[in-house]
This record gives sequence, C-alpha cells and structure tokens, in this order.
Amino acid sequence: MQHVLVTGGAGYIGSHACKALKAAGYVPVTFDSFVTGWRQAVKYGPVEEGDLLDRARVDEVFATWKPVAVMHFAAISLVGEAMKIPGKYWRNNVLGSLNLIEAACAAGVKKFVFSSTCATYGEHDNVVLDESTPQEPLNAYGASKRAIEDILRDFAASDGLEHVIFRYFNVAGADPDGEVGEFHRPETHLIPLMLDAIDGKRDALTVFGTDYDTPDGTCIRDYVHVCDLVDAHVLGLKWLEEGKGNRVFNLGTGDGFSVREVIDQSRVVTNREVPYNEGPRRAGDAVKLVSGSTRAEEELGWRPTRSKMQTMIADAWRWHQAGHYDE
Ligand code: UDP
Repeated sequence: MQHVLVTGGAGYIGSHACKALKAAGYVPVTFDSFVTGWRQAVKYGPVEEGDLLDRARVDEVFATWKPVAVMHFAAISLVGEAMKIPGKYWRNNVLGSLNLIEAACAAGVKKFVFSSTCATYGEHDNVVLDESTPQEPLNAYGASKRAIEDILRDFAASDGLEHVIFRYFNVAGADPDGEVGEFHRPETHLIPLMLDAIDGKRDALTVFGTDYDTPDGTCIRDYVHVCDLVDAHVLGLKWLEEGKGNRVFNLGTGDGFSVREVIDQSRVVTNREVPYNEGPRRAGDAVKLVSGSTRAEEELGWRPTRSKMQTMIADAWRWHQAGHYDE
C-alpha cells in the first residue's frame, strides 16, 4: 500500500482529503499539531502528532512511513488575524512549509501537492482570475502562501521536487455521508457562522461591508464543495505519478455569490430565517474573488459534482445539525 503524508489531516479539508485518498487506494498518514485539528476527524489512516516547525519530528515521520507523496494542508488561514499578527503567518506557514519541503527532499519524496489560495491574487478590478493573474496578496495569509509557492519552484529547480499547486477559492460543504465536516475554532467563515446564527447557537451574523462596488454592495466569492476540491487533489497526485510535471490549478466554479446571495440561498435551503446585521468592512477582504479558469477541468479532468450553492449549504446544514465534533 502506498502511503501519502497529509499535513493538516485532522482539519476541515485535510480530513476530507484523507477520506478521498483512502477511497482511491492510498493510506493517508495524518500529520497534525492538533492546535486547530480534531482527533475525531482522523478516521482513514494512521496519525502522527507534531509541529512542522520541529524539523527532527518531520524527518522522523518520513523515516517511519516512507510516503510516496505529500499533501500539504496544514496552515493557519484567517485573514482577519493575519492583518493583526502577520508574524504568526510567516512563521507557521512559511517556516513550517520550508521544513516540510526540505525534509521531503532529504527523504527522496519528490511528489508534492500544495494547498494554496486565491488570496494570493489580491485585488484585480474586473479581471478574470486565472493562473497567470499577478499575485499581489492583500494580507499576510495570502503572502505566506505565495511565498510557499516560490519555495516549491526553487526546490523544483534545485532538487527536482515535482509539485501541483491548487489555488482554492472558498471551500464549503461537508462530506455527504456525515463522517467529517467543517468545524473551526474559532469559527470565522461565512457559511458555518450563518448556520450557527440560524440555529440560535450564536448571535446574528454580521455582514462585513455593504458599500462595496458590487450589485448588492457585499463581497463576492466563488464557493467550491470540499468533496470536489479533494477529488482534484487525488487527480493532482495521479498527474504527478504520470510525470506530467509542475502545474498550478485554480479550484473554483467560476460562479460568484455575494454575501447577501449566500444568505438568501441559506434561507431557502434551511427554510429558516437568517438573523443578521450589517457591519463595517473587514480589513484585508478583496471585493470579488471568482475563478476565471477551466484549466483543472481541461487538463486534470476535474468534474465538480456537488458545488451548486444549495447542495453545499444543504450538506453543511446536515453536518451542522448532526452536532459536529465534541469539544
Ligand atoms: N463574511 C461576512 N461575515 C462573517 C464572515 C464572513 O460578511 O461573519 C464575508 C467576508 O467578508 C467575505 C465572505 O463572507 O466577503 C467570505 O468570508 P470567509 O471568511 O468565509 O472566507 P474568505 O473569503 O475570507 O476566505
């Protein structure tokens, strides 16, 4: 059996990736610090606790499992926090990833799938965001991910590290079987906060900014279902196995939804009122992030099947109502 090292395998996207990898015949080995990950989310293979900043620990895990590839999800990813504590993002995300990349190369593991973000693009008025759009991030989160992309390119040149970089748009939804789902601490993301507000588990949602230059004044995002997203990662791994080389892929659907539209769709799906109020803009937010690329479909053969907004909200709602992980 082929092992794949999955950093952040106890997190939202990483846990779904482990399920997809297992279904594809691999053994996912979760490496997680459990600072934000959940032990209950590790269901599909062995687990190693550790911090990517601890290089000796990372080397040990490579020696133990001899993975054929790495899928690197572990990161901190909160735009608001990144504006206030940028050093945390540079240290954790960039130095941690550098350790991982160096350890992978030292262990002779040359296949690397990396979780990057559309936040690396920053603000581009009326420009379609495709993989060649200049990367001008607005916050330390996006900047840290862009830096890791640069590190991968350098190690590709120096050590022959073969990598696929996925730039995610907004990930949403949950495993339709209800085995894993989205549960962050603290929660900052729109859809889970909204479902909590609908359920009375927390106060009304605050819409961050209603004076943007968009049809309804709120920010526009491109939402992609977590199951579709991780399917692309398995395809990315196969791409590397077939020796197709280093490549960057956007993962989005090309459909933009404003915050108000997401609220409206949630009202329809849950058949409940969405308690919300309107607040000021959140620092670091781009007005509009929508993928203008079909490269993943054309080259990887990626076929998103659950990324309709109502399906994503319905899957998230089902997971939400089933009770999350116990704290
Ligand atoms: N948003 C909001 N209220 C919240 C959380 C998010 O209005 O409590 C908005 C946010 O400004 C952005 C969109 O919802 O326009 C998606 O934000 P999220 O934090 O889910 O993802 P991000 O785009 O930051 O990765």
